[in-house]
Amino acid sequence: MRYISTRGEAPPRDFEGVLLAGLAEDGGLFVPETWPVLTSAEWRGLRGLPYPDLAARILALFTGGQPDEATLRPMLRQAYAGFGHPAVAPLVQLDTRVFALELFHGPTLAFKDMAMQALGPLFDHVLARRGQRVTIVGATSGDTGSAAIEALRDRATVDVVILHPEGRTSPVQRRQMTTVLAPNIANLAIDGSFDDCQDLVKAMFADAPFRAEMQLSAVNSINWARIALQIPYYVAAALALGAPDREVAFSVPTGNFGNVLAAWAARRMGLPIAQLLIGSNRNDILTRFLSANDMTMRAVEPSLSPSMDIQVSSNFERLLFELLGRDAPATAQTMRRFRAEGRMPVPDEAWHSAARIFRGFTLGDEGILAEIARLHGQGYLADPHTAVGTAAALASPPADPSIPIVVAATAHPAKFPEAVRQATGIEAPLPPRLADLYERPERFSRLPADLDAVEAFVRRHALRNAA
Ligand SMILES: *Cc1c(COP(=O)(O)O)cnc(C)c1O
Repeated sequence: MRYISTRGEAPPRDFEGVLLAGLAEDGGLFVPETWPVLTSAEWRGLRGLPYPDLAARILALFTGGQPDEATLRPMLRQAYAGFGHPAVAPLVQLDTRVFALELFHGPTLAFKDMAMQALGPLFDHVLARRGQRVTIVGATSGDTGSAAIEALRDRATVDVVILHPEGRTSPVQRRQMTTVLAPNIANLAIDGSFDDCQDLVKAMFADAPFRAEMQLSAVNSINWARIALQIPYYVAAALALGAPDREVAFSVPTGNFGNVLAAWAARRMGLPIAQLLIGSNRNDILTRFLSANDMTMRAVEPSLSPSMDIQVSSNFERLLFELLGRDAPATAQTMRRFRAEGRMPVPDEAWHSAARIFRGFTLGDEGILAEIARLHGQGYLADPHTAVGTAAALASPPADPSIPIVVAATAHPAKFPEAVRQATGIEAPLPPRLADLYERPERFSRLPADLDAVEAFVRRHALRNAA
């Protein structure tokens, strides 16, 4: 199994290569050179597997034997052992045909744990075999940083420095990062905005000598391994509802397009998915694209579902590459024009093929509060991201009523207690294993948004641990 860049000018790599590289050298994203496709009999053969074993089976289709399924299985059993539900990602019925696929039973209470928890053992395996160490640097406004820290804490081969904007993450999100006292983890509170943090990380990667000295690596959502590890839960849900002998639809609250791209990949692999609903908050670039072929950048506005507050969905490039018939030069040119002009020129034919599968839906803050209240009235407590997904399922279900709609429930309601309180008047309790989060000691360092200061910090952190 080889991976090629969507922009066609980076050398192909194997799975381990794309795991460690993240972004391709030409600025493109890695995609499988060919998609594995399963027959109906093969899908049926996956029914009833425990989640970690199903995930190992699916992931092995993308690793080309390196690591193989027998090696992956114990790694994934370890990755999901700490989840708060024996099914790992349980399905909860909300309505006659609407189900919530709860992806928030991991250590940081958001769906990013589903992929990130497996990256820890994967990195250790690959780096130990190669005798290498890496330094992971990342910027976060909340969920990604805590998921990365939980996944990589105490790993022998990895040092982690996560930058967050001081005072601008929620207390739950900050504490989930800063109360991890493992020696290989460092948190930096930057005097600045999330964009300042992200610029500092980009600048570290652009500093070639520093990048090489520190062996910098990233676990952001463009990393192919994260996408591959998000495919199994779509498979598990579809099989549970009768696939491959029954079609299903998914509704996915979307930011960087990573989670819904994994659902698209499952469909590309032959899983009978009739429709993919894309939920957005007021930052609705994807809804505008799907309804009118209008992919125009606008300023990001803060909302009650902050993990979807994005201007450009970075993983969309992978879908674009497919929509353009895997024409890498055309993909590269389209992305360059998007960066330069703020508007993505997608040919009508490609747009039509997207609009046949995907449907966009936008919900503003008032709608989010109303939807959380409606669900609460029916006995289900949802977080503001999940509420966008359930509202989308209600607003534009597939015409055939026999097709169930599975909503990706991407965060635990206790992760966004203010919105839940505002909508329902009740307090969403943290699960028992996190109940003392507010009493745990925190550790973080403060720095100005200054590249030299941040690089010096990263170097000290990495050298101390390598010694
Ligand atoms: C990251 C995140 C999303 C968006 O996922 P993408 O893969 O970026 O589309 C949605 N909800 C929650 C709670 C998240 O943390």
